[in-house]
Amino acid sequence: MTLTEKDSQYLWHPYTQHKTSQTPIAISRGEGALLWDENDKEYIDAIASWWVNPFGHSNKFIANAIYKQLITLEHVLFGGFTHEPAIKVAEKLMEILPKKQQKIFFSDNGSTAVEVAIKVALQYFYNKGEKRTTIIAFENAFHGDTFAAMAASGISFYTQAFQGMFIDVVRIPVPVKGQEQVSFEALENVIQHHHCAGFIFEPLVQGAAGMVMYEPESLAKLIAICKENKVLTIADEVMTGFGKTGKNFAMDYVDEDPDMICLSKALTGGTIPMAITTFTQDIFDAFYDDDINKALFHGHTFTANPTGCAAALASIDLLQTEEMQANINRINKSHLEFQKKIQSHPKVITARTLGVIFAVEIKSVTEESYYGSMRTKLYNFFIDKGVILRPVGNIVYILPPYIMTDEQLQKVYATIEAAIEMV
Ligand SMILES: *Cc1c(COP(=O)(O)O)cnc(C)c1O
Repeated sequence: MTLTEKDSQYLWHPYTQHKTSQTPIAISRGEGALLWDENDKEYIDAIASWWVNPFGHSNKFIANAIYKQLITLEHVLFGGFTHEPAIKVAEKLMEILPKKQQKIFFSDNGSTAVEVAIKVALQYFYNKGEKRTTIIAFENAFHGDTFAAMAASGISFYTQAFQGMFIDVVRIPVPVKGQEQVSFEALENVIQHHHCAGFIFEPLVQGAAGMVMYEPESLAKLIAICKENKVLTIADEVMTGFGKTGKNFAMDYVDEDPDMICLSKALTGGTIPMAITTFTQDIFDAFYDDDINKALFHGHTFTANPTGCAAALASIDLLQTEEMQANINRINKSHLEFQKKIQSHPKVITARTLGVIFAVEIKSVTEESYYGSMRTKLYNFFIDKGVILRPVGNIVYILPPYIMTDEQLQKVYATIEAAIEMV
């Protein structure tokens, strides 16, 4: 049996209707921005394997750090114990995170980072004896697939089967160009009519919605409204964190500080699943008490796994090198040129860029859904040409590893241009 035959016998893939989906491609190795399948066909990974891999596949610097940690201390429980790798990750993050973040809590993936933030927002007010149980989130948000994260997510076909079983979430429009005032007023209105504990948002870029972008000034205004009303703010930087927007964090563009930040995806350079939720001192203090019941009773078996911490430290070191910062700028400049080139194309609705993120909306003859026919046609075209891109409906986005070469990037652009002609 081939790998794909064995796969179909045993495996259940994410976001996949197995009856109608195509068979998955078996990847056998990766290096830099490239992947090779079992037949040695080469692919350019233009979406950094779901946005996790900034420094390239099979990165030796991170691999060595992981190996060294594995043969020193691979894991120890974090309840009642601590270790240097966790402390070093905390120290390192304190240097680069927005100023008011003072405490870090480890978990396993983006969804759990969000789950922790939402539970903390709700328990913060419970501990203070104040009834605040509503969470505010954006329309078309994506915050993960565990229950509270799913409740906060607004992409309906992900969550439809579970409607009515969620924590209380109220949605406001994203302040995209022209909608700023509508969004501000919606937030004020929601706060007036509900007992709001927290507002969770993807800062500046909504990834899963198709790289929808909005301005830092608008986010600052929304956070300021929350602050006036003592609503806690949660910046979900799971996608935007660690350089994607051109700065370390999207919140570095925003003049207001959030109360909590969620991190995962690029945290370990795409090697080991790990996540972090960070907090202000004020939040931590609401749980600090002689009463044990005010503690945060949340944890995961692999909390602060030392090997994951070693991978995170190596990744942050790589991010901070001049070479990597130059790579981020180089890709940004290149994206801006490509944007200029194609935005006047008759089949292009809009093109947008922030940091290493680029997205183009392609005109379609009919209304297309996320899993629409144009999406499938585009996806297959890209795979055939050896470029991994996963369009969201009629939106094609690029989120490359920062080490992607100019030549590879030009091939990605050329393939997108050809696809626009094709559909
Ligand atoms: C991917 C993502 C998540 C969920 O992370 P998982 O590791 O897939 O659970 C949460 N929030 C945002 C903004 C994401 O992009």
